[in-house]
Order: sequence, then structure tokens, then C-alpha cells
Amino acid sequence: MSQKFLMVGAGLSGAVIGRLLAEAGHTVQVVDGRSHVGGNCHTERDAKTGVMVHVYGPHIFHTDDAEVWEYVNRYETFLPYKNRVKTTSRGAVYSLPVNLHTINQFFGQTLRPDEAKVFLEGQADTTIAEPANFEEQALRFVGRDLYEAFFKGYTLKQWGCDPTELPASILKRLPVRFNYDDNYFFHKFQGMPENGYTAMIARILDHPGISVTLEKTVSREIAGEYDHVFYSGPIDGWFDYRLGRLGYRTLDFDRFEYDGDYQGCAVMNYGDVDVPFTRITEHKHFSPWESHQGSVLYREFSRECGPDDIPYYPIRQVAEKSLLADYVALAEGETNVSFVGRLGTYRYLDMDVTIREALDAGRRFLGCLQDGAKAPTFFVQPL
Ligand code: FAD
Ligand code: UDP
Repeated sequence: MSQKFLMVGAGLSGAVIGRLLAEAGHTVQVVDGRSHVGGNCHTERDAKTGVMVHVYGPHIFHTDDAEVWEYVNRYETFLPYKNRVKTTSRGAVYSLPVNLHTINQFFGQTLRPDEAKVFLEGQADTTIAEPANFEEQALRFVGRDLYEAFFKGYTLKQWGCDPTELPASILKRLPVRFNYDDNYFFHKFQGMPENGYTAMIARILDHPGISVTLEKTVSREIAGEYDHVFYSGPIDGWFDYRLGRLGYRTLDFDRFEYDGDYQGCAVMNYGDVDVPFTRITEHKHFSPWESHQGSVLYREFSRECGPDDIPYYPIRQVAEKSLLADYVALAEGETNVSFVGRLGTYRYLDMDVTIREALDAGRRFLGCLQDGAKAPTFFVQPL
């Protein structure tokens, strides 16, 4: 029997789950407080320069998940894109992630791969057996000089705290390579949507069973009007922040234009702590198959998220996790609501992981409907 479902949020989570439910014959209402679909992946073509702008910060699609890659290619053409990041530190430009070029340039060497491995082991603090935090992880794997040039200042600016207070796992995402491969990611599939992410997500939502309402922010009371609600907003927001607010970092984008090519690459990081921004992104380089004279750039500043700011990066330190546990307990008391996506589960999720989790959640939910079982409040545990 056809049921009526509400998706709160027209980002990837709401769109992918909504599509699965609509294809199974159900009626799906999608609402979003913003004036566009796409959530934080939203892209918009700048009227003046023609550049495709990643409005809430740059998004590069990369995955090892063949089904997710096939899924996104069903709704949009993905063109080849390799993320090659540079960093400026103490007046010089280096290649990231740390690779043989970075090591040779930074230390004024001409090392071959095996020699570089031995050399870097000499830089590393091998007394650290089990790195307990971000700083120890860096000292153990790249040594103090590279850490201080590329990671210490950047991380202080990005997270607003000393790297010794951050988990080692944040740095584990970045590889160290002993060859000249400067691809920032090591996933099998990588690319950029030809017409932007918003076009792709609009196509996922384009189904006769789905209706989309924009510029409408909903609250908890609405749940009674639907058979089930999938909520991809902030978990604390659903409960009107009654236990307090979960901590996030937010970003300020100082947008500026340039006539020509400003920096010659999409992403230039700034490792020095006395440069107040973390990076500059030049959006036309995210679409290397296009050609534009004008350029749109973002200087990116990170700071603590206030009540009126957009929550970007969940902090997930001990205090936040304890508050999260209280919200999870409240959420488990809801009868017909599932919390999904990066804000609903208070986790940093790349787009491919978001899609994978949404596909799994939608399928499991349909299984529950078939079996007459209660749907899980969380398809993936937030803690
Ligand atoms: P969102 O995109 O946040 O969508 C949630 C939607 O819900 C929002 O549109 C919001 O307006 C709406 N909403 C919330 N509450 C309500 C309410 N009460 N009523 C109505 N609407 C509501 N991933 C990558 O794979 N590659 C990258 O390069 C990459 N770069 C990133 C850079 C930054 C700065 C950030 C923060 C994330 C990045 N990501 C990247 C991750 C990517 O943004 C997420 O995977 C994706 O946005 C998650 O989709 P979502 O639908 O869960 O959440
Ligand atoms: N990082 C750094 N210097 C850099 C790039 C990254 O110190 O030039 C650190 C920083 O703490 C960041 C983490 O490594 O949060 C992970 O990097 P990534 O590029 O994955 O950052 P994100 O996509 O989370 O902004």
C-alpha cells in the first residue's frame, strides 16, 4: 500500500532516499529551508563570468564504490578531474599531499623513492609507537619540519585548537607518497559533474512520485502528518536545541573576482598561521573542460559556528559526544522519524559515503515496510 513520506532536506541524503521510495510507488514530499535543492553540494553558474561556483565550498567527487559511481553517472555526466592541491608555506609553493616532489623540494634533495623513505624515517619521531593525537601522528609520519610547515598552522586555523587536542584520525585521511603522484585522493573513481551537483540532484528528484517545496523550514510537529519522516537536518535542531547545541566549525567565504587566471590551480592551501585564511579556491579550475576569462575565487576562513551560521564540520570531541549521546537517546524515543546524513548523524561524510548510506537506508526501510517491522531511528549509529 502506498504511503506518504517526508524528506526534510533536499541534499544528497533526502534526494537519494526519496527517489528509492518514490520508485517503490510511494508519495514523497521533500522540503528544504533553502531556495535551491542540492544541500551543501549546491553549484550555481555565475552570471557575469560563466564560472560554475561551488557555493558552499569546493566539492570533488571521489570513490571506490562502483555502485555509487554508476549511480551518480546515471543522473549526470562526470568528466575527468584530478584534485591537485598546492600549499604556500613561508614564501614557497609546494605540492600536496606530501610526495617525493614535496620532500625533495622542501629539503633541497634529489632523493629516489627508497632513499626518501629512509630519509623521512630519519625525520620521524619513532619513539611514538601509538600516536594519540593529530600532532603525534604528524611527528611520527612526517617529522617536525614538515609538520610545522604544512600542518600545524593550517590545522590551528581550521579547527581553532591545538593539534594535540585533535584525534590522529583527521590526519590519517592524508597519504604520504614516495613517488611523484600528486593526486590528492587515491580512489579509483574521481570526477566532476559536467553541469554541477545541483543539476544532478534535481534529476534524482525528478520523479512523478516526488514533490519538492523550497524555502520551507519544518519542525518536529509536522511528523504527525506523515507515515514516516527522514530528517537530514541537525539532530539537535529537531529537538529545538533543548539540551544545548552540538559544536561545529563554520566557514566564511570571502568571494572575489579576478580578470584572468589568479593562481593557476583549483586549491591553494596556506600553511602559515599568520595568514588568516586556510585556502583560496579558484572555481573555474574545478571545470577544466570549460574556458572563462573571468574568475571567481573564495578565500576560506574557519571559525566556531554560532546559532545563525551554517554548520559545516562536526567537532566530535569528548564533550560533544556526550551531548550527542543525550540527543541520540531522545531520538530513539521518536516513533516515525529516522535521522540521516551528515547533520542528522553529526558525522563528517563525503558525498560517496552519503549516497552509499542513503541507498542502504532506503532499501532497509523498504524491507521493514514489507515485513511490517519498525524502521530504525538510525541506519548508521552516530556514536
Ligand atoms: P546537506 O547537504 O547538508 O543537506 C541537508 C539539507 O537539509 C540542507 O539543504 C538544509 O537546508 C536542509 N535542512 C536542514 N534542516 C531543515 C529543516 N528543519 N527544514 C527544512 N530543511 C532543512 N564531500 C566530498 O565527497 N568531496 C568534497 O570535496 C567535499 N567537500 C566538502 C567541503 C565542505 C566545506 C563540507 C562541509 C563538506 C564537503 N563534502 C565533500 C561533504 C558533502 O558536503 C556532504 O557529503 C553532503 O553535503 C551531505 O549531504 P546531506 O544531504 O547529508 O546534507
Ligand atoms: N591539513 C593540514 N594542512 C593542509 C591540508 C590539510 O594541516 O594543507 C589537515 C587539516 O587539519 C585538515 C586535515 O588535514 O582538517 C584533513 O585534510 P582534508 O584536506 O581532508 O581536509 P577537509 O576536506 O576536511 O577540509
